[in-house]
Amino acid sequence: MTENPKPEAALEYASLRVYVFPLHNTDAAGACSCGRTDCHSAGKHPRTEHGHLDATTDPAQIRRWWTAWPDANIGIATGPSGLIVIDVDDREGRHGTDVWRVLVEKLGPRLKTRRSSRRPRAVSMSTTVLPVARSPAGTMPSGPAST
Ligand SMILES: [Zn+2]
Repeated sequence: MTENPKPEAALEYASLRVYVFPLHNTDAAGACSCGRTDCHSAGKHPRTEHGHLDATTDPAQIRRWWTAWPDANIGIATGPSGLIVIDVDDREGRHGTDVWRVLVEKLGPRLKTRRSSRRPRAVSMSTTVLPVARSPAGTMPSGPAST
């Protein structure tokens, strides 16, 4: 059995100035830790009162959260982290991967991407994260080409 990687992963994200917050998680049967049998966002909704607004890079707070909830999934507040997340969808006749390849060819090395793990039941979907230039508070970033 491998050690639980979530607390260390949350701290590693924070060390990269990625703002994190704890989410509920699912058990082996897919049941959400919130305990609601009708949960429609199993393992994906916040454990804290203010959700993404509670996100932090403070290692002490992150340790407190993942000590209280060691199996909590990791939520990322994309805005303060300077990230844009794009779901590339190839399901049901969509051609997201093809469109994504065209964008990467046009924008080339200015796009830095990381692929998350694929969801077991949606094998055609992947998630890509684009770091973008940080902008002054209250303004929109000018896009991935502005780095
Ligand atoms: Zn739930």
